[in-house]
Amino acid sequence: MKYKIALIRGDGIGPEVVNEAVGVIDVVAEKFGHQIEYVDVLLGGCATDAVGKSYPDGTAEMCKACDAVLLGAVGGPKWGPDKPAEQRPETALLAIRKDLGLYANLRPATLRPALADSSPLRRETAEKGIDLMMVRELTGGVYFGKRDRYQTEDRGTECTDLMAYSEKEIERVGRRAFELARLRRKKVSSVDKANVLETSRLWRSVMHRLAEEYPDVAYEDVLVDNCAMQIVRDPGQFDVLVTENMFGDILSDEASMVTGSIGLLPSASIGDSAPGLYEPIHGSAPDIAGQDKANPTATILSAAMMFRYSFQRPEEADAIELAVDAVLAEGWRTADIAKPGEKTVGTREMGRLIREKLAAR
Ligand code: NAD
Repeated sequence: MKYKIALIRGDGIGPEVVNEAVGVIDVVAEKFGHQIEYVDVLLGGCATDAVGKSYPDGTAEMCKACDAVLLGAVGGPKWGPDKPAEQRPETALLAIRKDLGLYANLRPATLRPALADSSPLRRETAEKGIDLMMVRELTGGVYFGKRDRYQTEDRGTECTDLMAYSEKEIERVGRRAFELARLRRKKVSSVDKANVLETSRLWRSVMHRLAEEYPDVAYEDVLVDNCAMQIVRDPGQFDVLVTENMFGDILSDEASMVTGSIGLLPSASIGDSAPGLYEPIHGSAPDIAGQDKANPTATILSAAMMFRYSFQRPEEADAIELAVDAVLAEGWRTADIAKPGEKTVGTREMGRLIREKLAAR
């Protein structure tokens, strides 16, 4: 097969980790007989430096002409909040997600077997394994609702942030969750606050209707506060968790942390027709940029998600994930996940070890 991949290398450690992921994709292509064409797309602080804006004209069109987008990370102190919006990297990130219509964010939280020790959870809980997929609605809810700030006569300043959801918005992300569950352990836990919020009551009724369409998938409702507790108490009980934007923002960070390291976690943002966007959950880590210290694993695992979800190539995705696990099982670590005395390698060497394992399998 032929695939065209847009590469947004970005800022800080972005280019370093994307380089290693590209190396891994090249090995997969060779092994499985695919042809890959890469298109470099400028976005972020580096785009501001080159052309004066973080989201250059034509960026979305370039990405839409590709089958998927791989992004390293963008941002850094050089392009801070004092800069005009069109020069700030965050503006570009929101714009690309919106222009590609990416309404579902998929974040797996997987505790890789070789790293059970790195989890802050109790050993007996971590040893049960964590392998959950958080599906977060990405373009609705309170982050995108109408906001207002006004003066009252007796209560001083008052503000409102409107949380709005339509049936259509809920149904499309809900359907994604059920479809994903069918590829996994066939369980969906839908997270809401239906005992208080009207948006949650609508959310729940749409999910119940969908659950009837997927009788092969087990379904449960979980209140958001209980979910926050359960992720720490017994995350192994969850397969696919689906929730609205703000709950997902908070819970996905919580779920990431129970797995140990930010340098290991990939993500995908997908919509209906445009290419999916794949990126590590970490930022541009300016403190270690250019020093060959960044862990490239999260970006390499993002490439695995690209094969699984955009290209429908689960074998290729499995091969990448197994190669990562094999390297970790042999005890190789980048500095962010190394304990004293463990074998520590840099970005390039970690990438090379993963490529070598992949080629050898
Ligand atoms: P960060 O994720 O960049 O870094 C947090 C800490 O984790 C740092 O100590 C860093 O060295 C470490 N770290 C992160 N990724 C690592 C990796 N792969 N290997 C080893 N260590 C790693 O978060 P931050 O410091 O809050 O943000 C830095 C910049 O990144 C900011 O400009 C922020 O806006 C931006 N950012 C971008 C994205 C994105 O591109 N999607 C996401 C988050 C933050």
